[in-house]
Amino acid sequence: MSDRTASSNGTPTSEDKRRAALLRSVPEADDTTPLAAQLAEDARRRIRLQGARFAKPVSTRVFTIANQKGGVGKTTTTVNVAAALAQGGLNVLVIDNDPQGNASTALGIDHHAGVPSTYDVVINGTPIQEVVQGCEAVAGLLVVPATIDLSGAEIELVSMVARENRLHNALDAYLSWRADQGLPRIDYVLIDCPPSLGLLTINAFVAAREVMIPIQCEYYALEGLSQLLNNIELIRGHLNPDLHVSTILLTMFDRRTNLAREVADEVREHFPDQTLAATIPRSVRISEAPSYGQTVLTYDAGSSGALAYMEAAQEIAERADKLNDVTSAAAAEEEN
Ligand code: ATP
Ligand code: MG
Repeated sequence: MSDRTASSNGTPTSEDKRRAALLRSVPEADDTTPLAAQLAEDARRRIRLQGARFAKPVSTRVFTIANQKGGVGKTTTTVNVAAALAQGGLNVLVIDNDPQGNASTALGIDHHAGVPSTYDVVINGTPIQEVVQGCEAVAGLLVVPATIDLSGAEIELVSMVARENRLHNALDAYLSWRADQGLPRIDYVLIDCPPSLGLLTINAFVAAREVMIPIQCEYYALEGLSQLLNNIELIRGHLNPDLHVSTILLTMFDRRTNLAREVADEVREHFPDQTLAATIPRSVRISEAPSYGQTVLTYDAGSSGALAYMEAAQEIAERADKLNDVTSAAAAEEEN
């Protein structure tokens, strides 16, 4: 995996050299000592990832994190990828669009009933700048919290004007407001969705350009996926022509079981371009972190779960680089 700290002209910086020296100092371990090999591999990943800076995308990338299956790691992925991108030096906004408010909890954000939240944005048209809160533990990470009030929004939305576009309009207005105020541009917006395909999720699909689907490496993992893809297709046809599934992340992966490997192979076979090389292991540290109001990146930065989410974030940011290359190459060709 490439090192984002390399200078722009490709010559190694002193930081690159320091990392290379550290990597060389990690002892080699062969397969006869699997535990030592795993420890050495984790040490190398830590050296490669810690302090890594990610390139800014050409324009704000907006992701909806969706899967109508419950408990597959949508919220865990939203908060940890967001925290990893922010730690990589980017400006990130998480919109908690799930009445359960799990993303708000995991980011240590106050979200008791009555706190200005996604409900006010979607139902009352309150500007996002009036409800957004900063995540204390992670610089550069902003959060629109969800409160229990949002559970009524599905029904309230039904009779509203432009009911599918309300989050999209609010987000557009917020990004323009930031530009007018001279505030730093938001690089990534991640919208955490409930496990259903109601109007809240549709609002998220209309607000986003990219869909990220976390897939749990277990039996039935792919069940319901075709329904999700059909729905995305419908939204693309009627409401948001730019929407596409850009990213699939395998979560709760246990490399020791055949089943997990089979599910992973099947997903990669169906979605070779979308599935990230990084996989998220099943990890106690990941599941413990939310009860401390933290992401795993701040709760246990050196753990294998934190490293995996950093790798996933790095890959997402690097793919934007590739997209940018394609876009700038196409633009250059057009000019000639
Ligand atoms: P919902 O559909 O209810 O919104 P979700 O898809 O957002 O669920 P999460 O809340 O992220 O899923 O995860 C479900 C449960 O699994 C949580 O208790 C979470 O802590 C745990 N979990 C998520 N990812 C991992 C992991 N990699 N290792 C261990 N536990 C995990
Ligand atoms: Mg969730």
